[in-house]
Amino acid sequence: MLAAFCLLVLILGLLFWSGKEADRIARHRDRALVALVLSQMVDRVGHAQESSTVWDDAVLQVRRRPLDMGWIDQNLGIWFQNYAGIDEIYILDPQNRPVYAMRDGRRAKPEAFIAVEGVADRLVAALRKSGKPVGRGQSDVAMLSAGRADFGIVRGRPALVSVKPIVSDSGRIPQKPGTEALHVAVEYLDAEFFGRIGSQFGLADAHYAIAPDTLRGQRSVGMQDHQGHTIGYLHWRPFAPGSQVIAALAPVLLVVLLLTGALVYLLASRLARRTHDLEDSRRHAQHRATHDELTGLGNRSMFEQRLDEALARARRHKTLLALLYIDLDRFKQVNDTLGHPAGDALIRQVARRLLAEVRIYDFVARVGGDEFAIIVGEPENRHAVERICARIVAEVERPFDLAGSQAFIGASIGVALAPLHGLDRTELTRKADIALYRAKTEGRSRYRFFTPDLDVDVQAREETYRDLRQALADCDRQLALHYQPIYTLETGHMVGVEALLRWYHPEHGLMPPADLVRSAEESGLIEVLGDWVLHRAVQDARAWPTLRVAVNVSPLQLRSRKFVDTVRQVLASGAITADRLEVELTETALMAAPDEVGHCLAALRGLGVACALDDFGTGYSSLSHIRDFAVDRVKIDRSFVNAIDTKAGAALVEAIVNLARANGLRLTAEGVEKPEQQAFLRRVGCHEVQGFLLSKPIPADSITQLLQDDVDHDAGPGAAALGL
Ligand code: C2E
Ligand code: MG
Ligand code: MG
Repeated sequence: MLAAFCLLVLILGLLFWSGKEADRIARHRDRALVALVLSQMVDRVGHAQESSTVWDDAVLQVRRRPLDMGWIDQNLGIWFQNYAGIDEIYILDPQNRPVYAMRDGRRAKPEAFIAVEGVADRLVAALRKSGKPVGRGQSDVAMLSAGRADFGIVRGRPALVSVKPIVSDSGRIPQKPGTEALHVAVEYLDAEFFGRIGSQFGLADAHYAIAPDTLRGQRSVGMQDHQGHTIGYLHWRPFAPGSQVIAALAPVLLVVLLLTGALVYLLASRLARRTHDLEDSRRHAQHRATHDELTGLGNRSMFEQRLDEALARARRHKTLLALLYIDLDRFKQVNDTLGHPAGDALIRQVARRLLAEVRIYDFVARVGGDEFAIIVGEPENRHAVERICARIVAEVERPFDLAGSQAFIGASIGVALAPLHGLDRTELTRKADIALYRAKTEGRSRYRFFTPDLDVDVQAREETYRDLRQALADCDRQLALHYQPIYTLETGHMVGVEALLRWYHPEHGLMPPADLVRSAEESGLIEVLGDWVLHRAVQDARAWPTLRVAVNVSPLQLRSRKFVDTVRQVLASGAITADRLEVELTETALMAAPDEVGHCLAALRGLGVACALDDFGTGYSSLSHIRDFAVDRVKIDRSFVNAIDTKAGAALVEAIVNLARANGLRLTAEGVEKPEQQAFLRRVGCHEVQGFLLSKPIPADSITQLLQDDVDHDAGPGAAALGL
């Protein structure tokens, strides 16, 4: 577009240039033309005179005395006025005396010649002196006789004066050169004269002026007599073809130019705006790519970049560097109870408090939902870092004001130091993360520096995760469910089983389920594991249509909405009816996330699935509290059953049983190992029992066998043990 505009400007420039050039050439032509015109005017008068002055009759007539005025009027005087528009004619005798005069078409007194003498005398003298025919003009048409002509001022007016001898055309009348009668013609350079010239030679507005007129774009040429006096100027309006073309085209071109200019401007400004917008959005995108929108802090990618840079500096200058990994404690609860906007506000406030605790050149980033990282560059020593950590822990412990309510959270911090713990980003962040994990497991709201022994723990843990993944990939070979029978104290019959996970580790042998479950929870594999347990237990339960099957579930499973869907699917498969399925959830798990878990339990109950509160008594909940939840059964923890031997223990168990029964809950006692315990439990009204006294957890086949024996003997080993 710009190129088109430039081209247009170039064309315009060219047009103007060629126009001016055409004008210049036209001016030259005009000058040459005017010179020619003037000389032709002179010649014209001379030629006109010759039509009568080169004539035998005329020679004879002007010799006659008295003159035949009538003839002279007709042929040498007035006739010229009519024939050639000559203004005045004089005839001079050989002594240069005027003998005839004609002015303005009328015969006049010869004395009138006085007015012409001033100009004519010079010409007459020159003519007489030369005595031979000389043409003044440069015209191609040769003159028949000698003559003299010149411009001059006559009667105060510019005039052309031409003098011709009256000579014989046949040559038969001899005349001595210089003695001929002379014919003087005067033509005034008046408007009529110039009008004639103008129309004849195409000179517009031709006229005479005493002075050169440069106004109004006129051109002029000075008219000089033979003595070099300027007698005036011939003016005309120059022929300017270029200017005419330009004048004709200019408006059109101007409009085109303006339009193109406007278009170019429009496109250019749009392009500029686009470029500007693009640059803007690029900057925005870059900012978004490196910053956390909520807090304005750097994000993970920027953190990594900054850490690399800081580590490079630390390596070069052999300086210290501390990396702090911070995780907020109880943030999730605040988010869940006060809502996301409050959670966002909390994160923003935390970011502000963190920034306030570090120096301006330390770098704070938000690297996850409630995770922050701080790079402390060149701290004085370890103590300085400890002080920062302590301040941060204290700051985050202070209450936060969130939309009218106060929130209490905490910060756990893991610290790794460079070069002590490594000079590589991955290494350092891994170690800070390990230290953070330890700070969290040690009780939160504290900081922990990395130590090599943590690494050993982590490695062991990671090994377990790896093994667990393998076990899950190969479930049916490494994992199994054992079932511990549950008996009713009323009849002594087996009424249910509890599914308990067993892991046959290829190297370490049988692994306790509690560790396995914790590892699965930590490594995010608990859902997969839980699903497997649920499916396996339901499959196995097909063989025992009279039994209830209890499955232990992790609180993490219950927090995910998927769990209810999975249970629904399992029930839909038809392997088991809902009333035969029971989920066991520990009391502590219920208390950790009462809302989420409560919802899930309600949904399960909606499906017809019962819920048992496992390990009851080890947590800190009260029975009245439990009432609020959709719980059907309480399982008295083994430790209480164990304490039945003591008076206080027995009283406690009795109290639990009474309270639970009063609240309409079913009761199962776990870990019953002694007949006395069982007897006591029956006496106080506990519904069911489970423990090594009756049966250890055993493989599914063994349960089938037990049931068979039960049928065969009407009452199985359980009944015997129960003393029924
Ligand atoms: P729990 O649900 O309370 O299971 C009862 C535990 O007590 C079992 O240990 C069982 O073997 C043991 N036990 C039963 N009777 C006696 C007894 O008379 N004396 C003694 N000393 N112990 C007895 P186990 O199988 O090692 O399971 C430990 C815990 O692991 C379980 O406690 C349960 O919380 C968890 N667990 C087991 N399987 C699973 C599972 O599939 N999923 C989940 N999430 N947790 C499971
Ligand atoms: Mg259990
Ligand atoms: Mg238990």
